[in-house]
Amino acid sequence: TGTWKQRRVTIMGLGSFGGGVGLARYLALQGAHVTVTDLQPPEQLSDSLNALASLPIRFVLGEHREQDFTDTDVVYVNPAVPLTSRYLDLARQHQVPLDSEINLFVRQCRGRVIGITGSVGKSTTTSLLGSILQVHDTRTRVGGNIGGSLLPHLDDITPGTPVVLELSSFQLEQLAWQSYSPPLAMVLNLTPNHLDRHGTMDVYQQAKEGIFAYQSPADTAILNWDDARVRQMASRTPGRQLFYSTEAIFDEGIYCQDGAVIYASEGQRTVLCHATDVTLQGKHNLGNAAAAAAAATLFDVPLDTIAQGLRRFHGLPHRLEQVTAKNGVDYYNDSKATTPASTLRALEAFAQPVVLLAGGYDKGTPFDELARAACHQTKATIVYGATAPKLRQALELASRQQRSDSTQAACAQVIQCPDLESALARAVALAVPGDIVLLSPACASYDQFPHYEARGDFFRAWVQDLPD
Ligand code: ADP
Repeated sequence: TGTWKQRRVTIMGLGSFGGGVGLARYLALQGAHVTVTDLQPPEQLSDSLNALASLPIRFVLGEHREQDFTDTDVVYVNPAVPLTSRYLDLARQHQVPLDSEINLFVRQCRGRVIGITGSVGKSTTTSLLGSILQVHDTRTRVGGNIGGSLLPHLDDITPGTPVVLELSSFQLEQLAWQSYSPPLAMVLNLTPNHLDRHGTMDVYQQAKEGIFAYQSPADTAILNWDDARVRQMASRTPGRQLFYSTEAIFDEGIYCQDGAVIYASEGQRTVLCHATDVTLQGKHNLGNAAAAAAAATLFDVPLDTIAQGLRRFHGLPHRLEQVTAKNGVDYYNDSKATTPASTLRALEAFAQPVVLLAGGYDKGTPFDELARAACHQTKATIVYGATAPKLRQALELASRQQRSDSTQAACAQVIQCPDLESALARAVALAVPGDIVLLSPACASYDQFPHYEARGDFFRAWVQDLPD
């Protein structure tokens, strides 16, 4: 702690949840002179500010001041801050080092760290693995891009303690500053996402590969065989590889065959459980389950404990969450589906007729593949929010293409609404008993909500208020 006394620290970006609050608290308690600066005004940060109320922290909110970046000993950068920010340039010009919450954590963490990244499925797989490991070793900690900062728990994380970190591509970019990869690294998948910030797929992929790029030969990368981009990463891992799959079969790893989840190692095959025992819905979640199971074997968790964990985990809110049934219609909240790929997976999970609600903030991702699927896998797609015109165009194009191919059945109805509430009203009017109403927006929520949780909470509350 002596190293922090009297040091001047600027925290850039507090955030309304996540690591910022934990970092500020931790540094203030270590005796550093902490300045927290955020472009958001105090009204929008009230939860975070309340959590820090009793601490000696200086706040500069609603703006950044140059001096806090030039006249300080270190700048802690929130992962949401674009690395092109001119304030970061300013710090660099003044030889002020940049650091981050996750970098500080991994430098001091004595536990056995597994990092989990991918475009989608990170939180689900991280939580599932965390819950399996927790049964095996109650010291287990889950953090990173999920929950709060683990910095306050550093003292409890003794050598060997399992530490499961969900890592976003932004956090991986920061970890690359100190050439860090976790000894166990998992990549779930790679689909166009966050291209508004990373620019190209190559840059995005490079950030993701940071999760294993600095590993040593004794370390392990756990890779999804079913994703061609991820499979091909195997040639670039410095350490060992462990594959999982729902399609292929191998001698080492976890795969699914004839409805069973199988662990193969050193020529031995053991059935872990049946695919139907996995409580999570959909084929994509079977993949997440295989991923978590593969990782758990690296912590020497007994196979029956792993199987039990797969049976017991019911998933997280906002991810294909069954909200309620009203008048024979099942309502599902998949607000966390902020990419077309996630919405595609959600559509695959249902055999019943689906009324899909999609739309929101425009991240620049293409919608053509989703439109083709929605066209024949939904009975109606209701588009709303900022991306509504773009989605409607893609759906109408898909519909024209389908009609010109006369062997195909008729296309789903497309309806455009200004916002989620009016879209919901249309969905309720359209759905008949036996249908599914699915909020799986394929877009971020920022045009109408502060985050996907608020969007999902709105959907849940609105639907639960419907008459029976
Ligand atoms: P993340 O933390 O990476 O954003 P989540 O586990 O929160 O991912 O899931 C986000 C959404 O992505 C969910 O709504 C789910 O339907 C979808 N999803 C989850 N896992 C996968 C996967 N392996 N492949 C494709 N889509 C997935």
